[in-house]
Amino acid sequence: MTEKKKTISLIVPCFNEEEALPLFYEETVKVLKELKEDYEMILVNDGSSDRTLSVMKELAEKDKKVIYLSFSRNYGKEAAMYAGFVNATGDYVCTMDADMQDPPGLLPQMLEILKKGEYDSVATRRVSRKGESKIRSFFARLFYRIINRISNAEIVDGARDFRLMDRKMVDAIVQMSEYNRFSKGIFGWVGFRTYWLPFENVERIAGKTSWSFWGLVKYAIDGIINFSDVPLNIATWFGIGMSFVAFIMLIFVIVRKLIYGDPVAGWASTMSVIIFIGGIQLLCLGIMGQYIGKTYLEVKNRPHYIVSETNGENITKIK
Ligand code: UDP
Ligand code: MG
Repeated sequence: MTEKKKTISLIVPCFNEEEALPLFYEETVKVLKELKEDYEMILVNDGSSDRTLSVMKELAEKDKKVIYLSFSRNYGKEAAMYAGFVNATGDYVCTMDADMQDPPGLLPQMLEILKKGEYDSVATRRVSRKGESKIRSFFARLFYRIINRISNAEIVDGARDFRLMDRKMVDAIVQMSEYNRFSKGIFGWVGFRTYWLPFENVERIAGKTSWSFWGLVKYAIDGIINFSDVPLNIATWFGIGMSFVAFIMLIFVIVRKLIYGDPVAGWASTMSVIIFIGGIQLLCLGIMGQYIGKTYLEVKNRPHYIVSETNGENITKIK
């Protein structure tokens, strides 16, 4: 029996990747051709301000398997990946960064594992954070420790968005049409049998990362809010604890008044308690605000992305 050929869809989100994209294309296509599998390469231009779109058009000109989608503005990597998932037609779908930090050389091995049929997805994780600053690594590790403790989606430290999935899993991901997307969480949440492939960290080949430190902090907070309601519970328990302490103190003050009479003292301590409690209240309000803000965006049901230009047929342009 001859095995039916399967198609692979590669999804590549690109934001200002004019330098890296041609290199990425060369390397990846070399690997894909060796695999002798049919493929499509979906390049998503996420509102780049450089020549990324022109580069995509040049690639599409010489390779009919290249499909480009160009967004009407920058919607973020999550939206770009979602657009890829929505429009991918392959039996296997793989998400990859354009900067070669996701080594295309791993693809054959990943495909082989999936083809055996034991797993539905092959995910990759960096075993080292070589080339990354110490502080950044420290906070990254901290983030993974926290989120795994408080959410029910397994989120692996060092996991990249570089992942090969079968149709089943892709369909599930497309169904998860939430507006606030956090792919690392979504991949974990949908479940399925995942094989973890470790590899050494690779530095980006050209251009520069679009993540600032604060951008990452915000991303981490988003991840936690999107996949856990533990912060809300913490706020509640803090409130209960504080009320209890306040009650004990009240009794203490009353008893002291009855026994000793009460000279006016303790202004400083009173102030610090008031300020402390005020701070906690604002923090809790802030936590609630985060969730309400997310709910607000979710309820508005706006599209994730708008495509302004594409060479593909039957492309979902707004979703
Ligand atoms: N990216 C994107 N939209 C953005 C930011 C990034 O599509 O708003 C793409 C970027 O072009 C790259 C991938 O997402 O292909 C990962 O970005 P980057 O290399 O900057 O992140 P890092 O590897 O440093 O986490
Ligand atoms: Mg990168």
